[in-house]
Amino acid sequence: MITLEGVGKIYGPVTALDDVHLEVERGTIHGIVGPSGAGKSTLVGCLTGLVRPTSGRVVVDDVEVSAANTRARRALRRRIGMVFQHVNLFDQRTAAANIAYPLQIMGAPKVEIRERVDELLTIVGLEGRGDSYPSQLSGGQKQRVGIARALATRPPVLLADEPTSALDTDTTDAILHLLREVCDALGVTVVIITHEMSVVREICDSVTLLDSGRVAETGKLEDIVADQ
Ligand code: ADP
Ligand code: ADP
Repeated sequence: MITLEGVGKIYGPVTALDDVHLEVERGTIHGIVGPSGAGKSTLVGCLTGLVRPTSGRVVVDDVEVSAANTRARRALRRRIGMVFQHVNLFDQRTAAANIAYPLQIMGAPKVEIRERVDELLTIVGLEGRGDSYPSQLSGGQKQRVGIARALATRPPVLLADEPTSALDTDTTDAILHLLREVCDALGVTVVIITHEMSVVREICDSVTLLDSGRVAETGKLEDIVADQ
C-alpha cells in the first residue's frame, strides 16, 4: 500500500531524511517511531505530497506521489485520512456536524451524509452523542470525533500523527484499540507517528525506527521489539 525507496530530503545544510526505505502492507498498522528531529514530520509530508523529496520514490495507493503533479497530489490527499494530536474540531459545530464537514465539502447529498454520520458515530463508539459540542466532550471523545471525521470519505489510508500524546494512559489504550478495530473492520491501512515505543508495542504490525533521518530498523514488530 505504501512504499518508500531511497527517499532523501535536504533542507539547506540539514539532511531531514537520508535513503529511507520502507514498506507498509495493505490493511496493517505501521508505526513510525523516533525522537524529536528524527524526520517523522518530513516523512509524513512525503506521504501526503506536501513535501517533495530531494531523491527517491514514494508510492501510496498505487500513486507515485514523488512524481505526481499538483493536481494528482491533491487528489491523493483526499484519499488519506489525517488524525492529529490536537484534534482541531470546530467548536461551534456539533460532533455530528464536525464529522459531516468533509462530506459537505465533497458535495455529498444530505440524506447520505446523515446516514454516514450515524454509521461513523457508531464505529467510533459515540452513538447518541452526535448533538454534543466539543466543549461537552472529553479528550478521548474528541479524538474519536477526529477519527470519525478522518474516515468520513472512506480513505484507504489513515495517517495518525501522535494521536494519543495528549491523552492519559487509559484513554490512550481505548483510542489505540479503536484504531485497531478500524484497521481490521474497514481494511484501512494505518500509519501511526509516535515518539512512544509503548504505543507501537500495543498495536503495530510493523514498525520503522527513525534516527537522524535514517532508518535504524524497519520490519515486522516481533523482529524489531526483540532487539529493543
Ligand atoms: P520530527 O517530526 O521527527 O521531529 P522533522 O521531520 O520535523 O522531525 O525534522 C527533521 C529535521 O529536518 C530537523 O532537523 C528539522 O529541523 C529539519 N526540518 C524540518 N522541516 C524543515 C524545513 N521546512 N526547513 C528546514 N529544516 C527543516
Ligand atoms: P451546519 O448547519 O453547520 O451545516 P448541521 O447541524 O446542519 O450543521 O449538521 C451538518 C450535518 O451533520 C447535517 O447534514 C446532518 O446530516 C449531520 N447531522 C447533524 N446532527 C446529526 C446527528 N445527531 N446524527 C447524525 N447526523 C447529524
